[in-house]
Amino acid sequence: MAMQQEWANKDYYGDLGVSSSASAADIKKAYRKLARENHPDSNPGNKAAEEKFKRVAEAYDVVGDEEKRKEYDQFKSMIGSGGFGGFGGRFGGGGGAGFPGGFRTTTQTDFDAADFDDLFGGGAGGQAGDGGLGDILGGFFNRGSSASRSARPSRGADVETEIALDFREAAKGTTFPVELTGEAPCTTCHGSGSRTGKTHACEVCAGSGFIRESSGAFGMARPCTNCGGSGEVIEDPCPTCDGTGTVRRTRSITVRIPAGVVDGQKVRLAGQGEAGPNGTPSGDLFVHVQVRPDPVFTRSGDDLEITVPVSFGDLALGGTVTVPTLDKAVKVKVPAGTPNGRTLRVKGRGIERKSGAAGDLLVTVEVTVPSDGALDANAMSALRTYAQAEKDSGFNPRAGWAGAR
Ligand SMILES: [Zn+2]
Ligand SMILES: [Zn+2]
Repeated sequence: MAMQQEWANKDYYGDLGVSSSASAADIKKAYRKLARENHPDSNPGNKAAEEKFKRVAEAYDVVGDEEKRKEYDQFKSMIGSGGFGGFGGRFGGGGGAGFPGGFRTTTQTDFDAADFDDLFGGGAGGQAGDGGLGDILGGFFNRGSSASRSARPSRGADVETEIALDFREAAKGTTFPVELTGEAPCTTCHGSGSRTGKTHACEVCAGSGFIRESSGAFGMARPCTNCGGSGEVIEDPCPTCDGTGTVRRTRSITVRIPAGVVDGQKVRLAGQGEAGPNGTPSGDLFVHVQVRPDPVFTRSGDDLEITVPVSFGDLALGGTVTVPTLDKAVKVKVPAGTPNGRTLRVKGRGIERKSGAAGDLLVTVEVTVPSDGALDANAMSALRTYAQAEKDSGFNPRAGWAGAR
């Protein structure tokens, strides 16, 4: 769902050059045309084409899929109605303390499904109140935004990292190790921040964790700075972590990227970010995935697509062609008389989801005409004999063609 945040800045229909009411068939057609034109194989070294190719693929992955398209349309119409366009600037600024190895902490609150509930459901996120805008903002500030970080946040900071995957790794899913340097639970006090485990209710906020203040038209709830929003004060702080419950250290974790991620997707690994203070929940780790295009495969949702060069004889006579899949090659039966450009479907050889559901492999056959001089005298002679015999048999390639008359 973290993906939806990205949708705010995307124009998938625009990327494909179609209107938002375009039919699924038109979307597919536009995608194929653009993907072909901008494919890295036909545009070696052309960065602009590569970018366009990625954008088009990302767009098609969403609006080319009936379910995802519905979600996307709903999301867009929600923004269009002005629901929360104004929040973008306020919470958009990420960045923060530098992290060795390309990591950085973020102070941004990501819009995900839960946040939408907060916005439209009036404080469903747990910071219950009277449902006014002040509570909505209060809820945001309590989710590790900069306001609460300056005091003591009630959860660990989110961490972002990037990874570039090969098309096949992305399609099959992969795991990789990362070294994360940041706040991790203190081993002396097991994250509580207290040497003895004794606490008492905060006298400033009377244990609520919040200070309410009025500013202009709205009442604002901000976390109490005395207790960091926890509502409790530690009596005997742990000497190792100074009572924070966390210490800065490097830990190794294994990140698992599920099968079928698309280029530009942000994978959210809940609870894999920095440890929260005093035993509060950890932040999340967001892995921004780049997927390098593949010279052989493209994707359409969970289906894999491949174009296989064949000879005229292969199609006219029928037979089998051997095509690669993400695993071992498979033989595909080509029926006699298969038209050029026909797409054959190999069930279950596409992207395999954890649920067990799998997409298909879509094999498009494309006739390669032998170039002049590619055939030997024997083959040329047979071809001439065949061409005459074809005519004699009454076959007319333009029979039924609208331009024949
Ligand atoms: Zn400690
Ligand atoms: Zn307090």
